[in-house]
Amino acid sequence: MTKHFDKKFLKNIEESLIARKEKLRKQLSTFAERDPRQEDNFNADFPNFGDKEDDNAAEVAAFESNLSLEETFEQSIEMVNKALSKLENNTYGLCEKCDNPIAKERLEIMPTATKCAPGHGCQIKK
Ligand SMILES: [Zn+2]
Repeated sequence: MTKHFDKKFLKNIEESLIARKEKLRKQLSTFAERDPRQEDNFNADFPNFGDKEDDNAAEVAAFESNLSLEETFEQSIEMVNKALSKLENNTYGLCEKCDNPIAKERLEIMPTATKCAPGHGCQIKK
């Protein structure tokens, strides 16, 4: 257990991460297929609007937007998985840059935060 945080806080974080992952997976599955060989890898659907030339152009455009959405969602899931594995390894909530604990209030809002402050606000003191 990460010593800077109490059990209950970490439990809440874990639950919100799991809920977040479920939600992301569900959203992804509306426009992408889950890769059966690799967990949390999705392949964007290629839509089928019809066989006319206009339809084909629209399909390509929709596919491209599915692809970029897919990437964004996959990155979010990856962040969640990373946070969950940190919970397991007792390193959750520590800033990757300065090793200081990240403020609880920040983690409550953004449980996947990996730095103690957004942007360049990190105070490095070791
Ligand atoms: Zn920091």
